[in-house]
Amino acid sequence: MIETVVGRFAPTPSGRMHAGNVFAALMAWLGVRSAGGRMVLRIEDLDPRAHRPEATRQLLDDLRWLGLDWDEGPYYQSKRTEVYVEALRSLKERGLTYPCFCTRAELHAATAPHASDGTVLYAGTCRGLSPDEVARKKETRAPATRLIVPGEDDPAGTIAFYDLVYGPQREVLAHSCGDFLVRRSDGIMAYQLAVVVDDALMGITQVVRGNDLLGSTARQIYLQRLLGYDQPVYAHVPLLVAPDGRRLSKRDKDLDLGEIRAHDAGPERLLGRLAATVGLAQDGEEVTASQLVSRFSWDLICTHAQNNVVFEA
Ligand code: GLU
Repeated sequence: MIETVVGRFAPTPSGRMHAGNVFAALMAWLGVRSAGGRMVLRIEDLDPRAHRPEATRQLLDDLRWLGLDWDEGPYYQSKRTEVYVEALRSLKERGLTYPCFCTRAELHAATAPHASDGTVLYAGTCRGLSPDEVARKKETRAPATRLIVPGEDDPAGTIAFYDLVYGPQREVLAHSCGDFLVRRSDGIMAYQLAVVVDDALMGITQVVRGNDLLGSTARQIYLQRLLGYDQPVYAHVPLLVAPDGRRLSKRDKDLDLGEIRAHDAGPERLLGRLAATVGLAQDGEEVTASQLVSRFSWDLICTHAQNNVVFEA
């Protein structure tokens, strides 16, 4: 039996979508639709205080306007705490976690941010605390929870995977991040844990997202292995850069969907321009998302991703 591709949109509703988010969403959607698969929408609002319902409403409206539809959801991470707590409990019961009392300032003072995404290599400061020390520290400070990663000589801590766009990847967790957070000190689950639990419980087989998350993938695969989950296929897509090489971000107001929708009648111009950056459309061509389905292939994206994908405002 051929397995159905199940993909997802997993936006964080922290503001209006911009061209870079649209590009990643378009690739995720094309990866699913070109394979006749199923799309799940999951709103990553883990920290309800940081997200406004208005931003979520706008996001759904923007996806519909773009013609990027979904078959299941939206699911809301803010309503799924129990499943994350359950996964955390299973890790804890096996002695794989420990409480960490380090402050953000202490973490940054101890080591320089390691990866481009700001990941800090954790030195293991709280790993050896005795039960007495933990009890004493708990009187003044609520701890976060860290997952123990294998030592550098243990093969279990070397994660190798194949990315559909960036090819073979290999990471030694003890070198890249060390023991990593699975729950924050304010009780909110860490992104890494929530995303792994959700991808597994939602039956996701193909994860397509921006390459800023390439460095999170090894941690996620390690968690999948501990929790007995299947590993999805990964495809990280390039982040768009401005002609001067700067990464596009939400600060580029003119690439914000609010601006774009105020000036354009439909999404075809934006979609055409985004598609042209990876050879899916001619320069100046206007297209709908559906028109791109039969043109899409991972090989094409892979070829273009070898260079910066430039998008001019
Ligand atoms: N919610 C994350 C974001 O918007 C994406 C998470 C993921 O795709 O794994 O950046």
